[in-house]
Amino acid sequence: MSDCLFCKIAEKKISAKIVYEDDRCVAFDDINPQAPVHALVIPKKHMVSVAELSEADAGLLGHLMTVCATVARQKGLADSGHRLVVNTGSDGGQTVFHLHLHLLGGRPMEWPPG
Ligand code: AMP
Ligand code: ZN
Repeated sequence: MSDCLFCKIAEKKISAKIVYEDDRCVAFDDINPQAPVHALVIPKKHMVSVAELSEADAGLLGHLMTVCATVARQKGLADSGHRLVVNTGSDGGQTVFHLHLHLLGGRPMEWPPG
């Protein structure tokens, strides 16, 4: 999608610190990290949010989860743990409307979230 920030990152039209890439997805460091490790995992294909998903997307979403595990290991979080967050829609706090998983770690997380 031409005016989507994360599509532009996936297409390398906007620079980001890419930490993982394959044919279906890209992971990069968040520009405003909320933890010592804060990466975003996105599909290369434009998808708005979890709210738009259908059964046909299950394989891709499963793949994004396994990529989170790969990046977590790469970032040294395998033993300490981490948190995956998928903000969805306005009440969910989503600000970029290209589906993304936040991978947060490197400090203890609190619950409940704000
Ligand atoms: P959300 O609020 O869940 O939609 O998350 C959007 C995330 O994208 C926020 O954590 C932002 O800090 C991050 N972000 C926005 N612009 C960029 C960028 N150019 N490069 C990396 N991360 C970004
Ligand atoms: Zn997009």
